[in-house]
Amino acid sequence: MSVFVQKYGGTSVGTTEKIKAVADKVAGFRDAGHDMVVVVSAMSGETNRLISLASDMQQDPDPREMDVLVSTGEQVTIALLCMALKAKGYDARSYTGTQVRILTDDAHTKARIQDIDVANMRADLDAGRVVVVAGFQGVDEDGNITTLGRGGSDTTGVALAAALKADECQIYTDVDGVYTTDPRVVDGARRLNQITFEEMLEMASLGSKVLQIRAVEFAGKYNVPLRVLSTFTDGPGTLITLDEGQDSMEQPVVSGIAFNRDEAKISILGVPDMPGVASKVLAPIGDANVEIDVIVQNIAADNTNDLTFTVHRNDMGKAQAVLQEVAKDLGAREIVADDKIAKVSIVGVGMRSHAGVASTMFKALAAENINIRMITTSEIKISVIIDEKYLELAVRALHSAFGLEK
Ligand code: ASP
Ligand code: MG
Repeated sequence: MSVFVQKYGGTSVGTTEKIKAVADKVAGFRDAGHDMVVVVSAMSGETNRLISLASDMQQDPDPREMDVLVSTGEQVTIALLCMALKAKGYDARSYTGTQVRILTDDAHTKARIQDIDVANMRADLDAGRVVVVAGFQGVDEDGNITTLGRGGSDTTGVALAAALKADECQIYTDVDGVYTTDPRVVDGARRLNQITFEEMLEMASLGSKVLQIRAVEFAGKYNVPLRVLSTFTDGPGTLITLDEGQDSMEQPVVSGIAFNRDEAKISILGVPDMPGVASKVLAPIGDANVEIDVIVQNIAADNTNDLTFTVHRNDMGKAQAVLQEVAKDLGAREIVADDKIAKVSIVGVGMRSHAGVASTMFKALAAENINIRMITTSEIKISVIIDEKYLELAVRALHSAFGLEK
């Protein structure tokens, strides 16, 4: 029989009725003879509620106390789920992160897992019990409660699956899988049966917020087959693996279209064209803890350079302030910022072995009269920066240009 680790997110355990429905599902897997480890999130909205309580107390809440506070959300759901299972006649036992001993570093509110003690869980599984573990939390060497960052229950699920060498880690959520793009933007968006870790990382980091990015990285590193599926409807979901699919001839060139409205574009115009300038401009931005995404430099007719880069929209003001100083030093002409931009990306491992993908993309955008402001590519992704008002049009055009519809 198989060992499954299943993770149920906040919306799946949002009420006692829903927790009972999760218990029914888990019971079904037990009846089929599987060993079950279940990771749960806090009831939906609970973590936000706790965080807002904290902000009433202290402007920058103490990180250690923050973890003591927010870890309580998951402690509620593990107990309730075990009670629901017992009410149905199934043996179950709950564990906080400390009780399992999910050992993490001491980076409160963004801790990283270092080691998991599987002994207790194994003993319970051998005794026929369902093991129910609180997501998102661990314990440091000194016994302090830690948490893994927002959405961290996904990572707990994957880490337990890796430690237990589970057959699959199944992430149950309110969508029935990973889609070719956001179905709210494209009617014909299609659920993918299978996608690689690499593709999922690109899709996730670009805004398909189905899974915590760190969980996908973890799953890739330890090669844990990961499946995203719906708590509320039956179906196969989307399997995320190392494998590029059954038949590489069948492998689509592009697997999905990701997009992101969270960026802003900043240009510094008329900087001298000489060695060291890019670093003089960009290093202070990094020092101010602002992450830079796309960078483009072009040389102007008068032998000066224009340097354009994108940052998170929330960081635009900060980046502009830093640049004002740099601009003075370098004698730059002007700084221009624009937060009405968006990034659209095509993602697919199939790109590695196919030529002409970029030109298909650019042709499709041109046919809609969409101006490309910046371009960046990697082995399995091509991204363009365009005006935000064309975002949905661009996503639809690309979705159909690459034949992704149903
Ligand atoms: N409850 C935590 C959060 O809301 C962890 C999780 O649900 O994954 O971020
Ligand atoms: Mg989540």
